[in-house]
Amino acid sequence: MEESEGMVRSLIEKLKRIRFNDILWVVPPELKDRFDRMQLKNSLYRLKLLGAVTVIFNILNWPIYILRADEISFALFCKIFWGDLSQLLVTVLFFPLTGYFSKRGKISELWFICYAFIALNFIISAYPMMSAEIFLSLQLFFTGTFLYTFVPDFKPKIFISSLVLWYFTFLCILAHNSRTFAVGSPQVLALNIFLIAVIIRIFHYNSKVKTFVNTFRINALNEKLEALSMTDELTKLDNRRSFLERVDLIWKQNHRLNLPVTVMMIDVDYFKKYNDSLGHLEGDKALIAIAQCLKNHVKRETDLIARFGGEEFVCLLPFIEKDEALSFAKALVQKVEDMKIPHPMSSHSQYVTISVGMANTVPNNDNSYTQLLDEADKALYSAKESGRNTVMVSDVNVSP
Ligand code: GH3
Ligand code: MG
Ligand code: MG
Repeated sequence: MEESEGMVRSLIEKLKRIRFNDILWVVPPELKDRFDRMQLKNSLYRLKLLGAVTVIFNILNWPIYILRADEISFALFCKIFWGDLSQLLVTVLFFPLTGYFSKRGKISELWFICYAFIALNFIISAYPMMSAEIFLSLQLFFTGTFLYTFVPDFKPKIFISSLVLWYFTFLCILAHNSRTFAVGSPQVLALNIFLIAVIIRIFHYNSKVKTFVNTFRINALNEKLEALSMTDELTKLDNRRSFLERVDLIWKQNHRLNLPVTVMMIDVDYFKKYNDSLGHLEGDKALIAIAQCLKNHVKRETDLIARFGGEEFVCLLPFIEKDEALSFAKALVQKVEDMKIPHPMSSHSQYVTISVGMANTVPNNDNSYTQLLDEADKALYSAKESGRNTVMVSDVNVSP
């Protein structure tokens, strides 16, 4: 006896500890807006489909009513007619109204129309129950509960309260029709149907929340990973991989448009000596500063500056002609020298400087961007040979 009392008590304790959020899962606040929009979009789509199907179904029923006209009383005929007509009107109104507010992005109005649509449909379904026999009322209640439970993706609190209202309306109708409330009666059956629908609905809602939140987190993580795999750790510029992807894309695009592509190989002068004299950490700082300077100089959205590896950078300018690219490169060299980062061991300048090798061509069927990069690299070699802190342009036409 005491044992069972203890069990009941612990069960009550456990039940008390269940919070509302354990039953209905909550979407994190930062995702709430997106989730609501998705729910609204689904609801609108499914309600439209439901409306259209119901109207078509009603219309298809009419030949049967007409064929069996002698079996149907005039009163019932009128009831079916008015029921179908109001259903048609509600559905026909639903389409332009939702279209109008969707175009203007009126979210709360759209939700209201959806709620109104469901409420009107409930009323329309409740109407024939008023005079129907118990079995038919149950059938109508059953279809109504399941259809309107699974079609829209409403906010669960609103949704469950509307279902409770629907259930009590049904009880009133039954009371009006039969005036009996026996055990094992249609009321009990209806309550079972109602409870099952609500429980399934809650499971359904929770699994939607879970899928949505997980998908969002996975996508966000993927985006982060994607960005990480494209970014250079030290300088935060795009890395070699990102550059190669972009140059491939630009090459194909400019081939189609018959526009030039310029590539610049940029190398820091005497950087080994810089490291040797000031240490690797100071070398890292200098690389970060140079990267920032280069980035600030590359202003157009379509241009790209990336770290190619070590103390080498690469610049991609998709649309400009050779002369313009050359002045751009000269300015780049000047900007780095103007930063005046002291270089204790450079044989050329007292500051850190860069050398640039540039190549420019219009892509065609016989050349490739690897050839262009190769030419820029050769030009960089000449720039080093000619004394550094300068620009050399590839004089070899990349196209054979
Ligand atoms: P040159 O003027 O001919 O380009 O001479 P250099 O010394 O710059 O060229 P070299 O290729 O001999 O040396 C490149 C140096 O760049 C060697 C390496 O220690 C340094 N380096 C490469 N990556 C990094 C890095 O991430 N951080 C630091 N601090 N140094 C780096
Ligand atoms: Mg180098
Ligand atoms: Mg170097």
